[in-house]
Amino acid sequence: QPSRGHQTRVLLKLSGEVFGGGSIGVSPDTVRAIAGQIADAVRDGVQVGVVIGGGNFFRGAELQQRGMDRTRADYMGMLGTVMNCLALQDFLEKDGIDTRVQTAITMGQVAEPYIPRRAIRHLEKGRVVIFGAGAGMPFFSTDTVSAQRALETKCDRLLIAKSGVDGVYSADPKQDPSATKYDELTFAEALANNIRIVDAAAFSLCQENKLDMLVFGMEGEGNITRALRGERIGTLVTA
Ligand code: UDP
Repeated sequence: QPSRGHQTRVLLKLSGEVFGGGSIGVSPDTVRAIAGQIADAVRDGVQVGVVIGGGNFFRGAELQQRGMDRTRADYMGMLGTVMNCLALQDFLEKDGIDTRVQTAITMGQVAEPYIPRRAIRHLEKGRVVIFGAGAGMPFFSTDTVSAQRALETKCDRLLIAKSGVDGVYSADPKQDPSATKYDELTFAEALANNIRIVDAAAFSLCQENKLDMLVFGMEGEGNITRALRGERIGTLVTA
């Protein structure tokens, strides 16, 4: 349902794990490659917002299991996402793409605060807006935030980039070799079948607000660009 003539606006969710290239911290080569793919779509006129996870630094639930206070650990997780945002911003700007980072926890020296109407203006001007620090609230995940940001900035579609899997399967294909891939399914089916590739909260936000979600694997050549351009790869989840 592109609402701005031919200009599509999409929200891309990237997992933090990918940014680390398999270890803790940021892998510049990986981020450079991702930025290059986003830049290609932006040059085609696609308006792009990005939410990045923080799993390459900290996950609150994991730190909690190792004895930390959950809420403090979650804030550490949120701060980790901001480092990923700055890394992506750097490589996008090196590619000649204008960007803004907006964070849900204010940190004026590094980023703008999250101001939805201003984010929309940036998007309209062709700037990539990178949303950091999750929702600014413990007990949330960046999947859920990506659905919320997509809705609030009036995106046409939410794109969930996954690593190691190319769409939604009936079960985790790494554990169950008989798992089959869905070409398309509804949010109700995803929730009823307890599919965990994306958070239940993100599925239900999209379901209630009729926002299409594309879950795709980012490993294939140019897959991020293809998804941003509207190609039907991966699995389409709809209301
Ligand atoms: N987080 C949070 N509130 C938010 C978003 C993130 O508390 O709104 C914390 C939470 O601890 C989470 C961590 O930040 O584990 C990193 O985010 P996430 O696990 O979603 O990253 P991903 O798995 O996508 O890399």
